[in-house]
Amino acid sequence: MNIKLADLERRNGEPLPFKATLDEVDLKSRHHEIRGMTPVEAEGEAVQLGNLYYVTGKMKADVNFICARCLNPFTHHASVSFSETFAPEDDPILGEDEDSDILPLEGDEIELDALLQEDFLLAMPTFPLCEDDCKGLCPTCGVNRNEVSCSCTNERIDPRLAGLADFFKDSK
Ligand SMILES: [Zn+2]
Ligand SMILES: [Zn+2]
Repeated sequence: MNIKLADLERRNGEPLPFKATLDEVDLKSRHHEIRGMTPVEAEGEAVQLGNLYYVTGKMKADVNFICARCLNPFTHHASVSFSETFAPEDDPILGEDEDSDILPLEGDEIELDALLQEDFLLAMPTFPLCEDDCKGLCPTCGVNRNEVSCSCTNERIDPRLAGLADFFKDSK
């Protein structure tokens, strides 16, 4: 979805509400933990203030993952906020601060789809867990320890260390 700059200018600082749907096929193929998902419904508003253009809003989708610890499928009701600022590409403000988050605008439209896709994918977990404290599978007998307790004598891992183990897996 694109927003025409002329439409924003005409509104004299009054926000322009918009709705957009992002196709899920492309998103799914770009994140290897996503097993399935609904299209992403985005809702937000765009406004021009002076030389700057602001686009903010929220995206929603149901995303299917497989839990990395217990291997059970689960659905994550994702809600991802976005907030982007743009300036015309020849605007001096873009050169002022290398760390600024202001994006250059080429042409006479704000092209939203690619940006929103990035924002959405960045918000997806690389180590999906059905619950933050998922107990995972028993390493000895393989039962799902969220559902049943077995009598195996596995060495108990301090939950804080388990979190650390996840962290290392995550950063691979
Ligand atoms: Zn789990
Ligand atoms: Zn067991």
